[in-house]
Amino acid sequence: MAVSVNRNKCGYCGACVSVCPPGALELIETWIEVDDACNNCGICTKICPVGALEVAK
Ligand code: SF4
Ligand code: SF4
Repeated sequence: MAVSVNRNKCGYCGACVSVCPPGALELIETWIEVDDACNNCGICTKICPVGALEVAK
């Protein structure tokens, strides 16, 4: 898992969940969870309207 979610910025819009190719993101109540399926592609970081997602280097 390489993507981190800034919980102070995330507005739980769910946009990132639908763009993740391997389905690694899940909106659980008011948390975005990233699971091991994440391949670090970075697509979600580009789609997030508030910049809450970051690929760790
Ligand atoms: S970096 Fe890619 S694989 Fe990982 S959570 Fe974001 S969209 Fe999904
Ligand atoms: S796209 Fe950004 S603001 Fe929307 S649920 Fe995902 S991390 Fe949160």
